[in-house]
Amino acid sequence: MASLSLGAWRPLIRTVAGQGQVALTVDDAPTPEALPAMLDLLDQHRAKATFFMSGFRALRALDLVAETVRRGHAVYAHGWEHVRLDRCPITRLAQDLERSEELLRRFRPTPRPYLIRLPYNGGYRNARIHRALEAWSPGCQIAHWQLSTEDHVIASKHSTEADARAEIATQVARLANSPNLANALLLMHDQPVNEVPDGGLKAWVTVELMRQLLEMLSARGLASVAVTPRPSVPVWERFILR
Ligand SMILES: [Zn+2]
Repeated sequence: MASLSLGAWRPLIRTVAGQGQVALTVDDAPTPEALPAMLDLLDQHRAKATFFMSGFRALRALDLVAETVRRGHAVYAHGWEHVRLDRCPITRLAQDLERSEELLRRFRPTPRPYLIRLPYNGGYRNARIHRALEAWSPGCQIAHWQLSTEDHVIASKHSTEADARAEIATQVARLANSPNLANALLLMHDQPVNEVPDGGLKAWVTVELMRQLLEMLSARGLASVAVTPRPSVPVWERFILR
């Protein structure tokens, strides 16, 4: 499906370029219950990830933001609160992103071009949102994904670790067998922000998923790298979003 605009589209990223590489992207970070274990797993596998952090969570765990940067991962804003910014007054978008980035820039310089991941991905095909993003951070790109782990529903569907582990294995096998795995941006969460009640397994699911995912990638000889902005984007992509 293609969407047209009069030159408003910011580039979308779904893949990384390097041979044998994929990019693990983690939304809704940081939570103290899951992130320290995730960082250790990434180190064990010599993997780098890209974290899209929610400002309200980062504010409560500044040491974890610092630690994520210290270990060499990429860190970007995922909005302040976790709301559909495309359903808010348009001024809210830049305010939320700026408030979040202001906090993150205490720990590393603001990256240029900036990579955006919107809460709920809301408005990623909306030209008004793309124009507002460009106004906030000229040259920014949208970090979309090629494959989702669908982890945001796992904790709410299972009440035992054994059941959750089996579902995680199923999801990881699905990704492993996907023809689109090579070079893919993979979407997962640090304890997904959602209103669905869970049986207390949320943090456990997050860590277990990352463990299984990294083991699968290592077994296939795929290295997880931080997402980098696309160096050159054809002009037509400003007019046609695919
Ligand atoms: Zn999110």
